[in-house]
Amino acid sequence: QPVLGILGGGQLARMLALAAAPLGVKTLVVDSAADACAGQVAPLVVADWSDYEALEHFAREVDVVTFDFENVPAETAHRLAKRVAVFPAPRALAVAQDRLAEKTLFRECGLMTPEFQAVDTREDLDRALATVGAPAILKTRRLGYDGKGQFRIKTLADADAAWAALGGQAQAHGLILEAFVPFDRELSVIAVRSRDGDFRTWPLTQNWHTDGVLSLSLAPASDIEALQVRATGLARTLAEKLEYVGVFALELFVKNGELLGNEMAPRVHNSGHWTIEGALTSQFENHVRAVLGLPLGDTSARGLSAMFNWIGELPDMAPVLEAVDAHWHDYGKQPRVGRKVGHATVCAPDARVLVERLSGIAHALGRDHQAEPAVGKLTEN
Ligand code: ATP
Ligand code: MG
Ligand code: MG
Repeated sequence: QPVLGILGGGQLARMLALAAAPLGVKTLVVDSAADACAGQVAPLVVADWSDYEALEHFAREVDVVTFDFENVPAETAHRLAKRVAVFPAPRALAVAQDRLAEKTLFRECGLMTPEFQAVDTREDLDRALATVGAPAILKTRRLGYDGKGQFRIKTLADADAAWAALGGQAQAHGLILEAFVPFDRELSVIAVRSRDGDFRTWPLTQNWHTDGVLSLSLAPASDIEALQVRATGLARTLAEKLEYVGVFALELFVKNGELLGNEMAPRVHNSGHWTIEGALTSQFENHVRAVLGLPLGDTSARGLSAMFNWIGELPDMAPVLEAVDAHWHDYGKQPRVGRKVGHATVCAPDARVLVERLSGIAHALGRDHQAEPAVGKLTEN
């Protein structure tokens, strides 16, 4: 029985382990926290990324290593790659860990990006602002997630405040200044490439963020025929250039019909959670298949899906359990402000039925319920 090793024990590892089981694949997870939520569904090794002795032992127990966490230090990934197959390869991981390398690669692959400049010093910031202009966003090049490590610069007068917020991290991680894009909408393409180069994408997903954290995804997004062809082509170019193996996400802004690359995630992605119930093969199953050298499954959508993230704490699950084709995912994590603790996906054969199902549980889904206008727009098309 093959054993898949996963670095990082969050909800992504948990859902990978759940998808691996029916394929007869065992999983072994590494995390520094003894209460990592993947540990509830798979055996867990508690170790730091620099605990090479524990990691060597882990490498001997598994056939393939993959990631739930994209910021595993490059040194750790390289050391493991000497002992055991690691997918995606450390080189692909390294590019995706650095916003500067990532955006440079996007441009090489023909994917435009918001204008950007590297910033290492306070003087660099002034120079960068002179070319990029305001509004802009100053970000740490490394280690940011869920909108953390970012400062929005509305006018040039905000430069001091931005430096006060992030300047301290300039030396260790480097910073990048990006033009702020008043995009029409945000899409992501989830893609998978197998060990022998078979490449597939799921239908484009439209995403809505609240305070920098994904709150809602809708898939397939509306009016995507032309965009889908372009996004798939760009994702394929990127994957081939990186000799990528496994699932990755490419986050895109759409502005006046043009695609701009925001970032890539070298792993399964939150905006692909709808594929568990909404696609013929989920991103988790295809990732497991890809890294183990198994044939990939069909990535078509079954119908329409809306995915809601639960941030901070879970609501009452009963209304979702009672609804038709609605699916509950509790990650088994302790509630904490800003933390992703679960999600729910509602599926339907078409937009009209999806709107009906969503309005049936609108109260349970709670919050500002951005799905209504988004889905309502679908029904007009
Ligand atoms: P993730 O949790 O997706 O890894 P992250 O912390 O890496 O997020 P980004 O994806 O860079 O951060 O930014 C989070 C969100 O902020 C984006 O999805 C988008 O809504 C907004 N955003 C980021 N960069 C820009 C930009 N240049 N112009 C406009 N909006 C932006
Ligand atoms: Mg990110
Ligand atoms: Mg992002």
